[in-house]
Amino acid sequence: MERRRFLQNLGATAVGFSFLKSTMASQLSAGADAAGRVVVVGGGMAGTTVAKYLRFWGGTGMDVTLVEPNATYYSNIFSNMVLTGERTLSQLSFNYNILKSKYGVKVQNYSVKAIDPVGKKVTLSNGTILPYDRLVLAPGIDFEPLPNLTGSAANQAKIVHAWKAGEQTVSLQNQIKAMTSKDTFILTIPPAPYRCPPGPYERACVVADYLKRTKGGGKVIVLDANPRILAEPLNFTKAFNETHKGIITYVPNAPIASINADTMKITTTSGGIYTGKVINAIPTHKAGNLITQSGIGLNNSLDSKWAAVNVLSYESTNPDLAGIHIIGDSSSTTQPKAGHIANAEAKVCADAIIQLLKNGAVNPVPMTNSSCFTPITKTTASWLSVVYRYDPASKSMLPAGNGVTESNGATSENFEDMLKWFNNLMADTFA
Ligand SMILES: Cc1cc2nc3c(=O)[nH]c(=O)nc-3n(C[C@H](O)[C@H](O)[C@H](O)COP(=O)(O)OP(=O)(O)OC[C@H]3O[C@@H](n4cnc5c(N)ncnc54)[C@H](O)[C@@H]3O)c2cc1C
Repeated sequence: MERRRFLQNLGATAVGFSFLKSTMASQLSAGADAAGRVVVVGGGMAGTTVAKYLRFWGGTGMDVTLVEPNATYYSNIFSNMVLTGERTLSQLSFNYNILKSKYGVKVQNYSVKAIDPVGKKVTLSNGTILPYDRLVLAPGIDFEPLPNLTGSAANQAKIVHAWKAGEQTVSLQNQIKAMTSKDTFILTIPPAPYRCPPGPYERACVVADYLKRTKGGGKVIVLDANPRILAEPLNFTKAFNETHKGIITYVPNAPIASINADTMKITTTSGGIYTGKVINAIPTHKAGNLITQSGIGLNNSLDSKWAAVNVLSYESTNPDLAGIHIIGDSSSTTQPKAGHIANAEAKVCADAIIQLLKNGAVNPVPMTNSSCFTPITKTTASWLSVVYRYDPASKSMLPAGNGVTESNGATSENFEDMLKWFNNLMADTFA
């Protein structure tokens, strides 16, 4: 029943988890005779998908180069399970080999250092200059500094966010491993928008479950800068008050005022003071530095920390940035900042770019979908899902059908579905 409800909400008719392709196939209008040079910057969930589908749908006339400094991508999705030892980072690693060998995407393992929107070219960290007809930026997120962080440099270095899978994930895993049943883990949630709305609540649950199972107890304090639980409110309220009762304390309206890394005390703006053995502070987010940092070429064109786009094509709404598309977490839309929706946005963008290069019309009513599965314990998970449809009146993507739907609690069946969902999403992106 749960699976049927999930698929119904996604509007998918196929049994199983082929929805990623089936929903997009219905709106695929691109032909194979497009031609042009597209440079894609950022080989994460959004950038990798758009590079793959530009070639897959656009054909050999599409000259696609993906610029990504790292040869290996570590998935943020499932990285909370690295903290509790259920996964290793290497199990969450992906590379660009299939993109190159099967789809003919050229890959440059460098960063982009400069963008020239007028001359239509980007400069890489090794000095290479890549001209483009269309440029896609997908650099994910970066962070604002934590407010009033004091203490020795060594102690400050222990306060990690682990919100980009990698070294910090391992650091946080080791800190959690060293906790005892008498210790407190403090997790701070930044003001929205941040990547993966259910992600911090999921982290609180899996850490609480780990402490209970392996240490016989412990405390998790969640200091949320937001006024309420922002995703799956029913499931997380139940998880905090029942499944992890006595371990998790949830504090809404608690933005950080200061953190002392020597005394491990956090003061909130309302004056509350909390002390922890481990502090996992997730800072306020902004679009990737590529977009917001001065000196690269775009920051003066933004009117906020995020890039405004036309969601029919994900092209910037700033006329100075014509031909530049921004997808994934860096863009500002009504959709959540999440990997599943980044994959869906990338396909809408790929289809639109192929049409634009053919002087065709972009799809006037694109649809996207998002789902997040959330482990609540080592063996159970919950989910949320939502389909978005373009609304011409507001020129934005609005929830269609049942809106945002959440599962009826956390079950082991959902946990099994979560594993299939992850494998499908990552295969659709990297293979
Ligand atoms: C703990 C956690 C759990 C999550 N769980 C889920 C989940 O269950 N479901 C879900 O849908 N989403 C989930 N997410 C969110 C998801 O991981 C992100 O929303 C998604 O990765 C965004 O994709 P992106 O392509 O915009 O950014 P990313 O995947 O972060 O990719 C950005 C890429 O850009 C590259 N880059 C940056 N700057 C440059 C530059 N100057 N030049 C070249 N390359 C550059 C980076 O190296 C990186 O590879 C989770 C996130 C976290 C932290």
